[in-house]
Amino acid sequence: MNSAERGTLYIISAPSGTGKSTIVSELLRSDPNIYFSISATTRQPREGETDGVDYYFIKREEFLKLVDSGGMLEHAEFCGNLYGTPRKAVYDKLDEGHDVILEIETVGAMSVKAVCPEAVSIFILPPSLSELRNRLTARATDSDETISRRIAEARPEIEKSRGYDFIIVNDSLEAAVEQAKTVMKAAKRMTKLNYDTIEGVLRKC
Ligand code: ADP
Ligand code: 5GP
Repeated sequence: MNSAERGTLYIISAPSGTGKSTIVSELLRSDPNIYFSISATTRQPREGETDGVDYYFIKREEFLKLVDSGGMLEHAEFCGNLYGTPRKAVYDKLDEGHDVILEIETVGAMSVKAVCPEAVSIFILPPSLSELRNRLTARATDSDETISRRIAEARPEIEKSRGYDFIIVNDSLEAAVEQAKTVMKAAKRMTKLNYDTIEGVLRKC
């Protein structure tokens, strides 16, 4: 299968509370060809989250068994909980020609880049750290202690944004969604995703 038929793998990262889930929901709504990779996690479900839709909520032992059996494309610990990307669904969907979004933190993102260099990485920045705190507080899904842990993680996560292919600031939600769509379209023309096209032309007389 050449790169034109295979789907594109997108990695989307952002500090917790930036709005990445909100942006990803909009992207999924606007393009039925995109498959959202449902991660496994040991964290407790938040109100309104559904098992098998938002995450596979599993126990730590089950998670570690999946890792040991090679079932995870990547995994990482974040704020005391384990998160991981089930491998098979990602590769199946890409092979079927679907684009796939991984909504994952920076350690996992780097692991995916190491095994899938063709993955396109997008980092979403909050307008400021104080606005990040406002959003986490307004979302009202986490305790004060959890919010503080997530804010503390934000700065080192943002430092790692330098290694991403694209940066988007989520100030106006509408503008951020439009920029994400533009970047995802442009990414399809990145040289690293089009080596087959170059070879094809060189093969022609
Ligand atoms: P993340 O997935 O990055 O943790 P969420 O998508 O849950 O973040 O968004 C965190 C909160 O911020 C939610 O209450 C969401 O409605 C809100 N939000 C998202 N984008 C914006 C924005 N551009 N301006 C203001 N609030 C936003
Ligand atoms: P939350 O608890 O807010 O849903 O997620 C916390 C962090 O874990 C976010 O940065 C989110 O992107 C990340 N995350 C979610 N799923 C995965 C995953 O499968 N792997 C990794 N490495 N991080 C994930």
